[in-house]
Amino acid sequence: MRYLAVALVCLAGGMLPAEATEVCPGNPDAIGTSRTITVDPAELPRIGRIQYRTTLPLEDHEVVITFDDGPLPTYTNRILDVLAQNCVKATYFLVGRMAQTYPDTVRRIFNEGHVIGTHSLSHPFSFRNMSEEQVADEVNGGIARVTAALGNPNAVAPFFRIPGLSRSNTAESYLAERSVAVWSADEVADDWRRGVTAKDIVRLALQRIEARDHRGVLLLHDIHPATAMAVPMLLKELKERGYKIVQAVPPGERPKALPPKPDTAVAQAGQGWPRVVEGSAAAAKEDAPKAPLHRKHAARKDRDQALADKLAKKKSKPQTAEKAEVTGTGTERGFFSFLQ
Ligand SMILES: [Zn+2]
Repeated sequence: MRYLAVALVCLAGGMLPAEATEVCPGNPDAIGTSRTITVDPAELPRIGRIQYRTTLPLEDHEVVITFDDGPLPTYTNRILDVLAQNCVKATYFLVGRMAQTYPDTVRRIFNEGHVIGTHSLSHPFSFRNMSEEQVADEVNGGIARVTAALGNPNAVAPFFRIPGLSRSNTAESYLAERSVAVWSADEVADDWRRGVTAKDIVRLALQRIEARDHRGVLLLHDIHPATAMAVPMLLKELKERGYKIVQAVPPGERPKALPPKPDTAVAQAGQGWPRVVEGSAAAAKEDAPKAPLHRKHAARKDRDQALADKLAKKKSKPQTAEKAEVTGTGTERGFFSFLQ
């Protein structure tokens, strides 16, 4: 029996060297991250077949996971724990005001190897109706707040996702001039909808990935409890179905790791850290958006303030949501977003 055990160990060692097959140390069930793709905005300025003809050059059964609207520590941290356990690297599109309120979580995201792009300053719903000046305020304000939270401009990827996927020629031209890639998505999982369950999210994500050539850029939101519950199930199911996770990274050098506190000069330039202090509702109020909101959404400005107040009190209820509606046939869809 002893000899048999030794023989089996030798056989296993010879056929399956642990170092070569272990995608995630300590977790043999992990899906891991199989490879990275470098995304140069000059070569690939628009990404995602929901809205564009171009997307990432993924192979069969490859998926890129992206998260919008955070960070919101309660759920963002849960998802980060799961991603770390599974050695999965994702791409985040952070909202400037959320980053300003939770800079520690922003740095955790980066230091755990995820890519951080931006998703505007205050997640307005009117990009498609904005002037170039308004677009610039939202884009640059978001980048500044996320940069301030990270404390290093090289840590922010030139990737932007328009809130609500509310694209316009003005916004896309402005972002192209700034050499920032516009990310739409290949698949959504409706995880912003009220009442959606984790199982619904997993089912919809898989259905849509499989319907689109078994690959794609998946859009999720790390501010929702159902999404946090869905992510471990989704990763398990993807692995069982033979999928691999790919991470999209920007070109050029990125810092390996960020210090616990960002550089003060960079932080102050971005008006984020260290101005974010305990009970920062007043600070959030004085730092309210300068650009006028679109008429249609002006009524929501009060709710923006309510959101800032809620964030300052560190309530964990998710605030932003995106809603999709099918306006055409096949793959043609229109999107908009709103604050709850
Ligand atoms: Zn969003």
